[in-house]
Amino acid sequence: MTQVTKRNATKFLKDEYDELVKNHFEWNIKILESGSTPHAIVNGKEIIMMCSNNYLNLSNHPRLIKGAVEAAQKFGAGSGSVRAIAGTMKLHTEVEKRLARFKRTESALIYQTGFAANSGLIPQLVGEGDIVISDELNHGSIIDGVRLTKADRAIYKHRDVADLEKVLKDADRKYRRILIITDGVFSMDGDIAPMDKIVKVANEYGAMTYVDDAHGEGVIGPDGRGIGAHFHIEGKIDVEMGTFSKAFGVVGGLIAGSQDLVNFAYNKSRTWLLSGSHPPAVAGAQLAAIDVLETEPQHVKRLWENTKYFKKELNTLGFDTGESETPITPVIVGDSGKAKELSNRLFTEGVFALPIVFPMVARDRARIRTMMNAGLSKQDLDFALHAFEKLGKQLAII
Ligand SMILES: *Cc1c(COP(=O)(O)O)cnc(C)c1O
Repeated sequence: MTQVTKRNATKFLKDEYDELVKNHFEWNIKILESGSTPHAIVNGKEIIMMCSNNYLNLSNHPRLIKGAVEAAQKFGAGSGSVRAIAGTMKLHTEVEKRLARFKRTESALIYQTGFAANSGLIPQLVGEGDIVISDELNHGSIIDGVRLTKADRAIYKHRDVADLEKVLKDADRKYRRILIITDGVFSMDGDIAPMDKIVKVANEYGAMTYVDDAHGEGVIGPDGRGIGAHFHIEGKIDVEMGTFSKAFGVVGGLIAGSQDLVNFAYNKSRTWLLSGSHPPAVAGAQLAAIDVLETEPQHVKRLWENTKYFKKELNTLGFDTGESETPITPVIVGDSGKAKELSNRLFTEGVFALPIVFPMVARDRARIRTMMNAGLSKQDLDFALHAFEKLGKQLAII
């Protein structure tokens, strides 16, 4: 008779959690008791919101709320199916048409989330005999998408096109397809991928280009049209991926590109084929978000005015804001413990901004990551700056 191992099947759950707690790596999640508004109630306290992705404050825009409510009243709370079977409503196709127009691409496709777009599409674009070439600081959802492929992988130095070209040269003769993939705006530092140069070098080697513009959509480029518009290379990036969960203020992943891309993507992505489609309220709000971006340029304008003011004042106070070129402004502190302490004290003062520490960034580059919001007033920004100044001095950061 064989001996069966006596194992405790679930002991690891507590062990691993305890280990996280011991190393201060666990999430202590704060609870919003209001909407995600520029002045929000979090854990019972009124704070100035500086860590949401709701850049344009569209999640609270009356037109988006109306779009959601009316769509729910007309078409119900759920869609009833996956898109491929019986879950494609006219509303969904309307969003895709409007989105393609907004992005100035031939076509567009909506996924449930940006994460589902990356994890569903990337493994279909490349497989055995192919290679994916990634920026070293790409988002986790790209990394997971790449893990699902049988393709080889290579990494190039952050935003370094010369290094990318070295990798391309080496890959050129060895592989069938080559996919270059990068974040558009990098979420930890707020810097922008040199997409014009990446597209140029990709064209020389016959490589595909894929940009994850989650933090660029609604933020960079004229009227917030994203990274293609920012570099005046609209329609030249093979896959522009993005999300409705950030500046657009709703939820939902998107890709924009050629009709060939869209036909391929929806027939092949398992996350698209095998997961329920958005409820009508989501599609109704998405449509309204595109409407607002096309007709109310003041939100993007305000976002950038706020960003420029806040960054300039932080630098004047002596803070290091790294390489940021966007409304993601890191306040670099160095030590992890200090970053956490600064975040806690900011919260006590009424400013909600989270620390980003190792392993998300290098050990000596811990920071507070501030995210700008178009709904914050100058008075709000001065309030936050005053708190940063006072606490920065207390903690000997400035
Ligand atoms: C937020 C984010 C995603 C995920 O988008 P969701 O629609 O929220 O799933 C993907 N990529 C990047 C770079 C992101 O910042």
